[in-house]
Amino acid sequence: MSEFDVVVIGAGPGGYIAAIRAAQLGFKVACIDAGKNKKGDKPALGGTCLNVGCIPSKALLQSSEEFHKASHELEDHGISIDKVKIDIPKMIARKDAIVTKLTSGVGFLFKKNKVENIHGHASFKGKDGEWYQIEVTDDKNSSEVKAKNVIIATGSKPRQFPSVEIDNVNILDNVGALDLEAVPKKLGMIGSGVIGLEMSSVWNRLGSEVTILEALPTFLPMADQQIAKEAFKIFTKNQKLDIKLGAKVLEVHSKGKQVKVKYELDGKTEEVTFDKLIIAIGRVPNTENLNLDAVGVTQDDRGFIEVDENCSTKVENIWAIGDVVRGPMLAHKASEEGVAVAERIAGQKPHVNLDIMPSILYTTPEIAWVGKTEEQLKEAGVKYKKGTSSFAPNGRALAMGAAQGTVKVLADEKTDRILGVHMIGPMVSELLAEAVEALEFSASSEDIARIVHAHPTLSEVIHEASLAVDKRALNG
Ligand code: FAD
Ligand code: NAD
Repeated sequence: MSEFDVVVIGAGPGGYIAAIRAAQLGFKVACIDAGKNKKGDKPALGGTCLNVGCIPSKALLQSSEEFHKASHELEDHGISIDKVKIDIPKMIARKDAIVTKLTSGVGFLFKKNKVENIHGHASFKGKDGEWYQIEVTDDKNSSEVKAKNVIIATGSKPRQFPSVEIDNVNILDNVGALDLEAVPKKLGMIGSGVIGLEMSSVWNRLGSEVTILEALPTFLPMADQQIAKEAFKIFTKNQKLDIKLGAKVLEVHSKGKQVKVKYELDGKTEEVTFDKLIIAIGRVPNTENLNLDAVGVTQDDRGFIEVDENCSTKVENIWAIGDVVRGPMLAHKASEEGVAVAERIAGQKPHVNLDIMPSILYTTPEIAWVGKTEEQLKEAGVKYKKGTSSFAPNGRALAMGAAQGTVKVLADEKTDRILGVHMIGPMVSELLAEAVEALEFSASSEDIARIVHAHPTLSEVIHEASLAVDKRALNG
């Protein structure tokens, strides 16, 4: 039987980072993870993010973008390619190789930091004195580990569509969506959230005709609506994604190689047939067979483990982080909570600011934001000023052939403190770091306006938008 100062359950970006940080702080640490590779024949660390989430989706987004460039954009540069072809199995193999590199990298980091790597499914048994007892089962064996502190980082899983079975052949979730063997002629997507738009982008760029059925009448309600409206126009008009807002899906039937979907829109019932259907209607916390009752850890009515602002559960020395608790389901949020909990166990006083959490959609153009939207400021009655600037006249964006999009800076009317930055445009995923830093350091829009931004760079659009807050934009 093994005894540890800290046991982490789950080796996603929340759990593996928490385990490493706890080991750095001098604790004896184990991380228990049940994840397996794509074939299901070997353990694979890294959770949803590395195996079937952030990383594989970004690999496919990149491949499909290169294909789209070669097929449609290089001609403008005077480059002609006779016949552009895409080898889907090769594209998928490249994605798999990136996944394997990163997931095995986590194993290497565990060794380097002396984190004991235990493969298997963990469940609570109870408590014996100061020790929490955890049962670990893998395919063959069962064992017990004891821990003074437990960090639950069991992540999330796709939300099921009632009475529709995911077979990952015709009807896919995020796992199947990353492993198609050929480009479907007609692809259906239920949900126009982050996964819906990223996966639609991949297969649309490769030639699929994509229809998205979204229940809500508003596109990207969590984003600033000026940016969301610009995105909707680009996705539907330029990229021909057929996004049907306010669609109520009534029935889904898979037969042979086709999927029929019946839905209601504007009071009319329609039926459409797809070659493949992806369902991406959100994710739910994963506490399957954890046996939380054995130690008294509680969940809210949506299944999230209840924690306070420090990720402490109601049970002493049991913590929970990442997708399994409240807050945005993002890898960087999970990791920051992991670091903070490890440091709290060591008696430090770290803080994760959920109000300054960067959000990104890796579409083309990309969408990125941090802080409050204009809608949120209006609702809260906060008086604000705004400055916007377009990528259209930006020299670097024009050189890249990507001069489309907007940056919007929102600042407090009186103090000029930046309250939110919202962007759609080329590489805004990378530009966002400047905005996050500005918010964390309570910068004013004037601070950004007075900072030298190199020329010609995309970051000049943030500079211009900040100047525009004070109505003194120079290039727009
Ligand atoms: P997870 O990554 O889900 O890891 C949980 C781990 O716990 C898994 O390995 C699981 O096997 C293990 N586990 C569960 N129960 C047990 C148990 N009882 N015993 C042992 N092990 C257990 N986020 C971003 O920030 N950027 C992105 O670009 C992005 N893209 C995404 C794309 C897709 C398609 C998806 C699905 C998600 C994406 N996300 C993205 C979200 C991101 O993947 C999650 O927010 C993140 O993985 C959450 O980390 P976590 O550590 O909380 O849980
Ligand atoms: P989501 O919450 O982003 O979007 C789900 C969408 O499905 C919503 O627009 C919702 O209104 C719609 N929907 C729900 N039920 C429906 C129904 N019955 N019919 C039609 N539409 C319906 O969820 P997701 O796209 O599944 O992604 C899950 C999580 O993964 C997100 O919380 C996100 O944070 C994370 N993620 C992040 C990234 C990134 O950071 N780039 C990428 C992918 C996923």
